[in-house]
Amino acid sequence: MSNVSTLEEIYTDFSMRYFEDKTNGIFSDSVEKLIHEFLATDRITSELSNDDLNDVFSQVSIPEQGVSESEYLQGMTENVIGHTINTGSPYFIGHMTSLLPNFMRPMAKLVATMNQNVVKVETSKSLTFYEKQSLAMLHKAVYNQRDEYYQDVLASHTSPLGLITSGGTLANIAALQCARNQSLSTFADVEEEGFFAVLNKAGFTESVVIGSSLAHYSIEKSLGLLGLGKKSLLSIPVDKHQKIDLVKLRETLVDCANKRIHISALVGVAGSTECGSFDPLAEMADLAEEFGVYFHVDAAWGGPLVFSDEHRSLLDGIDRADSVTIDGHKQLYLPMGIGIVLFKSHETGKLITNEANYIIRAASPDLGRIGVEGSRPANVCYLQAALCLIGKKGYAHLLDKSISTTQQMANEILSSLDFELLNKPQANIFLYRFIPEKYRGLAPYSLEDNQAIDRFNIQLQEQQLSQGMTFVSRTTFKVNSELSVVGLRVVIANPLTTIDHCRAVLEDQRSIAENLE
Ligand SMILES: *Cc1c(COP(=O)(O)O)cnc(C)c1O
Repeated sequence: MSNVSTLEEIYTDFSMRYFEDKTNGIFSDSVEKLIHEFLATDRITSELSNDDLNDVFSQVSIPEQGVSESEYLQGMTENVIGHTINTGSPYFIGHMTSLLPNFMRPMAKLVATMNQNVVKVETSKSLTFYEKQSLAMLHKAVYNQRDEYYQDVLASHTSPLGLITSGGTLANIAALQCARNQSLSTFADVEEEGFFAVLNKAGFTESVVIGSSLAHYSIEKSLGLLGLGKKSLLSIPVDKHQKIDLVKLRETLVDCANKRIHISALVGVAGSTECGSFDPLAEMADLAEEFGVYFHVDAAWGGPLVFSDEHRSLLDGIDRADSVTIDGHKQLYLPMGIGIVLFKSHETGKLITNEANYIIRAASPDLGRIGVEGSRPANVCYLQAALCLIGKKGYAHLLDKSISTTQQMANEILSSLDFELLNKPQANIFLYRFIPEKYRGLAPYSLEDNQAIDRFNIQLQEQQLSQGMTFVSRTTFKVNSELSVVGLRVVIANPLTTIDHCRAVLEDQRSIAENLE
């Protein structure tokens, strides 16, 4: 036997190292250092432009032989990490993504180490039951059934009380899939026969889903995917508080009944993405009941307010929804990639059941029996950690605090001369805009003036991001049926954001505006 290894053998050994050495201390230490550096700054981002980054990442060949760990990490440091967005900065108050609780970072290591697949018990064991328990905990927070009910459901192998998904979009898809199937279940199984076949069998020629004009675009996306068609979303206008217009909603429901138009679902939004408004859920639940329609509440943003005594009333009626979407990676402060859908009835999940002999056996507790996703990570660990460590009171405190900071900021804008508040925050999202000096005090503005102010605010927001010190986002806001304007959008979720940070964001904008004017 020869002692001389071929080059090929040396490199094969090299890749085996990543499996044989269970700790990889050098890599761990270096990553730990990068994490510290990442957390050390409040800057939002570097000044590198999208075009610059396109150039940085233009090389397409995969290395023949793996590069060294230090070389790889050096590339990450130089080209990637510093040019991400610091979503945890207290000056980043324009999107729904913010700072994570510190225990999530070590938890992420644990979850990656265990590498469980909760699609089935055989690849996750305890975590399947841990997930069912967490769904029941959230179900109780929203629907507040008796403890015995939860004991029964958890003890039996019926469908779980919901589903952990990869985000709010997938949660909404699951909910609308249930709604579609349930609405036609007396005629045939839609999963089996297909939507249009069953719709025909039921004697309908048209089918809709009803929601407000502020419904999240994932609702439309779901309708495309589920074969109902994006156009089947009937958008009801909102009133001056950006809540669904109940008079028009009733008229629409009556009209659908008269014309024999099939309705899969009525969708309420609890915390609209665009401007943070909450639909009147109790009144919508009344209408859903009266017209026999499935009621889904998209509380991707606002759902965690169930924990707040002070603000829970925004969700009055949510416990009458057939299903509720709550995003984990928004106000539950979980890492990116976690959504939740809760079903009021444990029967609902059965409407989207899949079975396969080799993997998902009927009557097993396998979580993969319901929903569209297959292999899934044990995201339940983050959810349980947060629910247990933060607790109901902890969540209430965090949410109340960000809402109060938001309202303080809105009040400052209201009393300023250079900014104009576009909508009052119902919780912790609102819109405003900068009014350049020559337009101040001249409202209401002509269409041309509004367009000029729009252009100014677009430039302002773009420049603010490219400077990278502070951040708010931007949208086009429908002020009334005639007028839409560009709005700067504030979302305050970071528990470390204080009114002083908000003032600094406004000051940053003032100085950018001064240069622009
Ligand atoms: C964020 C959001 C969604 C979509 O959730 P993703 O997690 O982005 O998929 C749906 N509805 C509302 C109201 C949202 O705010």
